[in-house]
Amino acid sequence: MTLLGNLLEYNQKFVEEKSYEEYRTTKFPDKRLVILTCMDTRLVELLPKSMNMKNGDVKIVKNAGAVVAHPYGSIMRSLLIAVYELQADEVLVIGHHECGMSALNSEHIIGKMKERGIDEDTFNTLDYSGIDLHDWLKGFSSVEESVSHSVDMIKNHPLMDKNIPVHGLVISPETGKLDLVVEGY
Ligand SMILES: [Zn+2]
Repeated sequence: MTLLGNLLEYNQKFVEEKSYEEYRTTKFPDKRLVILTCMDTRLVELLPKSMNMKNGDVKIVKNAGAVVAHPYGSIMRSLLIAVYELQADEVLVIGHHECGMSALNSEHIIGKMKERGIDEDTFNTLDYSGIDLHDWLKGFSSVEESVSHSVDMIKNHPLMDKNIPVHGLVISPETGKLDLVVEGY
């Protein structure tokens, strides 16, 4: 059976057996918090559990690296919606040690795209259209610097409520230990 088939089969049982009941909650975060963090697999359960968060407690926005790359991209929009529409009163940016984005090499990714059949013409077209793929696919060298930068972007965003504290932290993907990088109060 395919991965999707397996997943759907499990899902049918999950719903039939009402396994969802223990997760029932509302769309508003009980802890009035929105977290921006990384999509790293090690953080899926570890991150909320390390902070005593369960279903219903918090909004979590994820991407590769916990980075706000663009002031009017979908990450920033999600954070603004969490604050203005969903009762989040504080923002946490949580990067992590050993993040894939810290060693990201655009040459390497572009090489893999070519191996999988994206042709040279496509890269030339993007180049002529003014899209700098190397810049777009770049990572960061220091997670602390990256977290501070994202905190600044959020804190100083022209549409962000100035009364919302924005904190920056780094988590260990092994132990869940949090280190404070920026305190937003
Ligand atoms: Zn990461």
